[in-house]
Amino acid sequence: MVLREPRQRLELLDVRAPVPRGNEMLIKVSACAVCRTDLHVVDGELSDPKLPLIIGHQIVGVDAGSGKRVGVPWLGWTCGECAYCTSGRENLCDRARFTGYTIDGGYAEYTVADRRFCFAIPEMYSDEEAAPLLCAGLIGFRAYRMIGDARRVGFYGFGSAAQILAQLAKSEGREVFAFTRPGDVESQKFARDMGAVWAGDAAAQQPLDVAIIFAPAGELVPAALKNVAKGGSVICAGIHMTDIPAFAYELLWGERSVRSVANLTRRDGEDFFERIGKVRIRTKRTLFPLANANEALRDLRSGAITGTAILTIP
Ligand SMILES: [Zn+2]
Ligand SMILES: [Zn+2]
Repeated sequence: MVLREPRQRLELLDVRAPVPRGNEMLIKVSACAVCRTDLHVVDGELSDPKLPLIIGHQIVGVDAGSGKRVGVPWLGWTCGECAYCTSGRENLCDRARFTGYTIDGGYAEYTVADRRFCFAIPEMYSDEEAAPLLCAGLIGFRAYRMIGDARRVGFYGFGSAAQILAQLAKSEGREVFAFTRPGDVESQKFARDMGAVWAGDAAAQQPLDVAIIFAPAGELVPAALKNVAKGGSVICAGIHMTDIPAFAYELLWGERSVRSVANLTRRDGEDFFERIGKVRIRTKRTLFPLANANEALRDLRSGAITGTAILTIP
């Protein structure tokens, strides 16, 4: 499925299988989960895509060379030389390349990926189960690591990432509070099913130690700050967000902080897959054949997907 220009439908095209070079391997894709970032790329909200482009960065497939199953994440390549790369912060590398954005991704039968940036996936997860772990799980986990020992954790937007992290949080004895679009009772029920102790509208007041914002809506930042205790943080986990409205300094006062989470490091991935090899993560999934990728994106945009949309490639 090829994006020729932002704000256009993906086109189903026959393209030549890519040829691996250097450290790359050829991967036969079996499943690719749909991420909100895919929508931001298609909608032109991220400014620098390769074009034409095959989007998708939560890829599970088989290395055509070794026959081994591999997972391909958003971080596709880093320079290894800059100040960020050499200080354990390759997620911030200025020259980093990203799967399904600046390099072709997984809405396809075949893709290539640099083997140094791919992950082995615990065997207990099927291909379809594993796909959402590669971004929703992994970048969500990077955000989750920033909550420290907080006990009362607010998730704003309860979709693909929150469903995974709610289970991790619960396994560690934390309490998850799920904030959704006003009146979205289906997502609220889903959040409770996935372990949230409370679920309600985004403007609701609930005392929290920390909040993670998954939804791309800037107005959630002051809403979350209102709920966070002194010394707590509001962590913005998405790659794109609408403008944050002005808010009173009083909301930030008391050593509260607002920060973003960018991309992932390979270390995040190794730690995440080790963790979820011990805690069995379950995900709610809606499957679409690859050719119906536009419908999957449409349903994610409208809020019709509960959990994660997955493209399957037989
Ligand atoms: Zn670098
Ligand atoms: Zn993603």
